[in-house]
Amino acid sequence: MIIFDWQHELNRKGHRVAISGQPIAMHCHHYNINLQKTLEDTLGDEGVQLLYQSAEETSYHGFQNLFNQYKKIRTIKSKLELAAMLYQNSGLGIIHFQRVRPSGARIESPASHHVTGWLAKHGRRDTPGCHFTRGWIAGTLEAIYSLPCGFYTVDETKCKMKRDDECIFHVQER
Ligand SMILES: [Zn+2]
Repeated sequence: MIIFDWQHELNRKGHRVAISGQPIAMHCHHYNINLQKTLEDTLGDEGVQLLYQSAEETSYHGFQNLFNQYKKIRTIKSKLELAAMLYQNSGLGIIHFQRVRPSGARIESPASHHVTGWLAKHGRRDTPGCHFTRGWIAGTLEAIYSLPCGFYTVDETKCKMKRDDECIFHVQER
């Protein structure tokens, strides 16, 4: 088990909440799903890209910062473990990193905030919809492997928003 003291790392000053010194924004599914729906409906693919890239850049810089603070978290395995724990503890869902290599990865997610939120508000959709998670995965793996932001591309081949059994993500070099 890795050493990460939540009592110490997660704190609040007035209205500001921070994890390891980095301010975070907390939104319920009404906000997050309306944001996604508005971006998709008004901007189409460009809106999807905007969501993806925002999540990618945020997780990239966040994890770079975190790994700089936690020098003892050195191995890829423990970095992946920390990332999955942070994803879950932030309320984003459950993520299983599988077959992770510097050249690519396969990731499964059996439960997620965005899936639950989308299905509650809009029901089943015909296309995969976990754009936030795709971006988050890209940025996280780029930070873990010390690669430039934008190095990977992440596709979602199965999605619970389409009523598939789980969300499956494939990572490869762009
Ligand atoms: Zn999905």
